[in-house]
Amino acid sequence: HPRRPLLPNTDKSCLGILGGGQLGRMFAHAAQALGYKVAVLEPEAGCPAAQVAEHHVQANYDDATGLSELHKFATSVTTEFENVPADSLDYFARGGFVAPAGACVSIAQDRLAEKHFFTRCALNNGVYPAPHWGIATHADVLSAPDDLLPGILKTVRMGYDGKGQVRVRTRAELEAAFAGMNGQHCILEKMLPLAYEISVLVARGVDGEAVVYPIAENVHRDGILFTTLAPSPNVSPDIAKKAQAAALDIIAELGYVGVLCIEFFVLQDGTMAVNEMAPRPHNSGHYTIDACITSQFEQQVRALAQLPLGDVRQHSAAAMLNILGDVWYENASTDTQHEPAWDQVMAIPGAHVHLYGKAEARRARKMGHVTFVATSMPEAQAALARACVILG
Ligand code: ADP
Ligand code: MG
Repeated sequence: HPRRPLLPNTDKSCLGILGGGQLGRMFAHAAQALGYKVAVLEPEAGCPAAQVAEHHVQANYDDATGLSELHKFATSVTTEFENVPADSLDYFARGGFVAPAGACVSIAQDRLAEKHFFTRCALNNGVYPAPHWGIATHADVLSAPDDLLPGILKTVRMGYDGKGQVRVRTRAELEAAFAGMNGQHCILEKMLPLAYEISVLVARGVDGEAVVYPIAENVHRDGILFTTLAPSPNVSPDIAKKAQAAALDIIAELGYVGVLCIEFFVLQDGTMAVNEMAPRPHNSGHYTIDACITSQFEQQVRALAQLPLGDVRQHSAAAMLNILGDVWYENASTDTQHEPAWDQVMAIPGAHVHLYGKAEARRARKMGHVTFVATSMPEAQAALARACVILG
């Protein structure tokens, strides 16, 4: 399709977003910098995005009145929340423009559909998902192939930050784990021997133009993203090229519009597997705000407003540290909280502190992130290490 841009700075220049978390907040910042107003649909009062958006429709993501109210403010709508009902996205597709489409988001919401889709793409791009088996009933537990053990049992829907996952070594453990899933449909994945994890951020416009960012390398702690290094210091030029080509193939096959993040595993034998995709800007792409010419959030604005996509070149090495609520606590066994020494973190050269405006610091809650930019990766990593000492 040809682009039909929604230009900024007119009385119609308002972009809608489903979801009010930090991703919506950073989207709003980028949209406002370009001259758009932002309207947020989110049930929670005072959420991170509503604190900065011009309009807040306080309703559930599937509330008909809320959806039509959002539509009055904005006819171009996106999502920052992966589990938004596809029907809500389809609603905006009928009376305006929505990106990404409900059909694309539906695939990303269902690990089995996602794996089937990746497998089909792999016939073309050569990068396969982990061997897997759908488990909806006890009979599926019994018929799962032996060579998928040891493996990981994951709920097909609603999993994130390692939630809804159990590692199983034996069929007895698999049975017990599935019994604990309360009948939710699951997928058993073979446990792969990971060397490290990477993610590839891609974006595509309605006209089919697509861009791909450098490879980001991710470390998780307790299932939650802990650090991202970009460009990945471990990835070989060969793997990087293959991952970027696979990501571009996937986004084109999907006919996707907007920013998409795809996670890959690099295995100990140097081969690669595709893990999962997020139909939105991603935590591992936060470094693009401070280290790339166009941030992932500005890219999402451009795709949604049907503008030309921005330059994805990275101008600085970047090391991103996620700030979880845990750093407000003195130690693991106390309930007393103190405000972290942000002044000391900001004194580190190259530090960009981002806080999301969440009133309550809870353990494992994403409160903010810090990106350290530098002229070399070792320098950026050293800065990150200093921040870890300060934050405890
Ligand atoms: P989430 O939606 O919670 O991010 P993921 O599927 O990405 O779920 O799994 C979380 C983490 O678990 C991954 O980042 C990786 O470290 C590990 N993991 C997931 N699947 C596998 C697998 N098949 N083999 C080895 N490790 C895995
Ligand atoms: Mg993941």
